[in-house]
Amino acid sequence: MTEVDFHKEKKMTRIFIALLLAILCLCFGVNAQSVARDNDKLRVLVVTGGGNYETTFYELFNGYNDLAWTEVRSDSAAFETDIRDKYDVVVMFNRNDSLAEAAQSNLRLFVESGKGIVVLHHALGSYNSWQWWWREVVGGRYLMKADGNQARSVYHQNEEIIAQVVAPHPITASLGARSFILSDETYKGMQISPDVKVLLSTGNMNSDEALAWVSSYKKSKVIVIQPGHARGAHLNLAYRMLVRNAILWTSGRLKE
Ligand SMILES: [Zn+2]
Repeated sequence: MTEVDFHKEKKMTRIFIALLLAILCLCFGVNAQSVARDNDKLRVLVVTGGGNYETTFYELFNGYNDLAWTEVRSDSAAFETDIRDKYDVVVMFNRNDSLAEAAQSNLRLFVESGKGIVVLHHALGSYNSWQWWWREVVGGRYLMKADGNQARSVYHQNEEIIAQVVAPHPITASLGARSFILSDETYKGMQISPDVKVLLSTGNMNSDEALAWVSSYKKSKVIVIQPGHARGAHLNLAYRMLVRNAILWTSGRLKE
């Protein structure tokens, strides 16, 4: 072996070792990153069952690397056990008149533990007789039937809704506009607490003015969004961002 050959071989060995190290670093780096990403995912429980809706609804949760979402198609099954360690946010999209006492207790434990709550569309018509839920937590209810002086609420399908941002909030800050248009089912004649902070409103005559609000409930963050029935909402970019931001904000992941 000449001296030139020796140096060449030494150089090749160095390059080989450097490459090997680079590959090893890359592998371990990527692994560490994906583990971190999995651990870092927001755990979202989507509770459905009882209401009619278009299946484009599920697109609201698809396409995000930072969300790990699970659907349970029955509220009694969803809250059969204490779920505080399993989820960060519960998205209520169910429509059910009542909930068994044990399930009520588990939902209440979750809500009182400071976790995130997002109430969408027909979930506003759930648990009309559970005062703590609709009055304190949600800050409103769609009346499935008349209650004393309060007439039952009504709905109108395929309405054009101009949603106006009426209060500054992290949820609406990134929408990029003061208003957006969507087509969806509207609710009118709901009972809404004067204590809620309305974020979006509309002048549509077949809708209540309040389209989205923050509940005044103190122990956890609660966002309520009236639309959510059909693809005109689900596939609307602004609506999609609104729901995503609501999930992030109620979990404390969206900067104030
Ligand atoms: Zn609906």
